[in-house]
Amino acid sequence: MEVAAFDLDRVLFDTNAYMKEIRRRMERRGIDPERVFRKAEIEGRKDLSTIYKVLGKYGAASLLLEGISDFIPKSIRDLIEELKKKFFVVVVSVGDDLQKKKIDCLNIEKFFFVKSDKEKIDIVKMIDPVFFVDDKREVVEKLRKDGIRAYQAVWFLDENYKRKALKDALRSPREILEIAKDI
Ligand SMILES: [Mg+2]
Repeated sequence: MEVAAFDLDRVLFDTNAYMKEIRRRMERRGIDPERVFRKAEIEGRKDLSTIYKVLGKYGAASLLLEGISDFIPKSIRDLIEELKKKFFVVVVSVGDDLQKKKIDCLNIEKFFFVKSDKEKIDIVKMIDPVFFVDDKREVVEKLRKDGIRAYQAVWFLDENYKRKALKDALRSPREILEIAKDI
């Protein structure tokens, strides 16, 4: 079976909406989100695992993980289910195992966790999938230069990022099914 590969944040998971909700939850519990995010940045980066560590005693698990699958719309669930009939679906994401929680319900067949976009590009080249989808224009451009069929997904991006997107950026998960049809 051929491999179809995806980035996780802002491609399969609505990371921006999730971060807004996390901020609201902290405020409701009397935790200053800016302080938490600043601390996370000092510790490395503002990702799920670092925020989890920083929150620790403030009930990180319930605050960060409850209802987390609500941030995957039906269009993404349907897309992955459909693709699995034809492809081995893998995810390449910056982060660690905790990232899996975000998309538990998609039952992804294999994950590759990397430390940076540069490492992500190297791993994708190694996997050599029939296509790869990422939300970052630069990642897509670099992979295309190396002959990988890469696409930029913009459905979860804010308007200012959408404006800076590639001309052939994908605006709906359904467009991937059209691409997959011809493979
Ligand atoms: Mg991403």
